[in-house]
Amino acid sequence: MSAATQHYDVVILGTGPAGLQAAIHASRKKVSVLVLGKENKSSLFNAHVENFCCLFNVTGADMIGNGRKQAAGFGAKFSDADVLSITPKDNGLELKTEDGATIDASALIIATGTHRNRLNVKGEKELTGKGVSYCVDCDGYFYKGQKVAVVGNESAAADGALTLTKIAAEVHLVSERLDVSTTLKSELDASTVKVHLGRKVKAIRGDKEVEALELSDGEMMAINGVFIEQGAKGLLQLATNLGIQLDDEMRYIRTDKQQATNMPGIFAAGDVCGPPWQVAKAVGEGCVAGINAADYAKRVTK
Ligand SMILES: Cc1cc2nc3c(=O)[nH]c(=O)nc-3n(C[C@H](O)[C@H](O)[C@H](O)COP(=O)(O)OP(=O)(O)OC[C@H]3O[C@@H](n4cnc5c(N)ncnc54)[C@H](O)[C@@H]3O)c2cc1C
Repeated sequence: MSAATQHYDVVILGTGPAGLQAAIHASRKKVSVLVLGKENKSSLFNAHVENFCCLFNVTGADMIGNGRKQAAGFGAKFSDADVLSITPKDNGLELKTEDGATIDASALIIATGTHRNRLNVKGEKELTGKGVSYCVDCDGYFYKGQKVAVVGNESAAADGALTLTKIAAEVHLVSERLDVSTTLKSELDASTVKVHLGRKVKAIRGDKEVEALELSDGEMMAINGVFIEQGAKGLLQLATNLGIQLDDEMRYIRTDKQQATNMPGIFAAGDVCGPPWQVAKAVGEGCVAGINAADYAKRVTK
């Protein structure tokens, strides 16, 4: 995708069943639709589905491939770039993606799935809130002038590390294999982030708070805080930065029966709205969100 600003009536974050069903219904209402996200990052991609009405013995990858073809047939466009930020702008929203694109949207559908983003290493649970964090945008500022590490392989980790260079004195990125856009990779190369490629975290060490990361090769990396940033930028960061209301446990996006959030023009669908985590629920909510987002976009662009 080019670096010039583009405008779409409806932008959909997520190319899982919720996002794709939303894209099919929105495109059929003759509005311009862009779907962002990576198909192999959908929870469905590696699943084998046996409980979805009217389909027998179908792989998740086939379902997603078919959904993308259907949506494209109705005019939806696709980009596999992850979104890094969303900001309100005039009569809509401005999105920045990992490949450096800026996209304006009249309406937005968040269908980013759930993040099961724990590292599951020794010390993580005990030190959560005591130096272990899952949100650079929420907690980064607590580490002004200190040493921090970010752990992860994708856009959220790279972007988080770059953000922290403006706050912390020293930023390490521990990554088994870096899987980010060339734009983000160049930004990392030009930054002060110390990238530890091909390395894994074995444990998070500290008595009352985080003191060090123990890497799998035995090295102890002295740090004051560690950010676990697996996958793409997740629900909590994108949503709370915007002011979108979450549920009482602050884990899922709260919507009404129209799949509308508390913010005008922003809808949500699928696992991001909470359990049951099932394709049938995701496509149902995606359908409602797609129709309502398209109608909203038509109203505001009249
Ligand atoms: C192993 C396994 C087996 C399963 N089996 C079944 C089953 O048999 N039956 C069933 O009904 N359900 C099953 N599920 C659950 C089902 O896969 C999910 O409920 C469904 O995929 C949720 O759809 P979704 O569209 O909400 O999210 P997902 O399918 O998870 O899609 C999320 C999308 O959001 C994108 N995304 C995330 N962050 C960003 C960002 N910052 N910018 C851009 N894009 C972003 C991702 O790249 C991805 O494309 C299974 C799940 C797993 C893990």
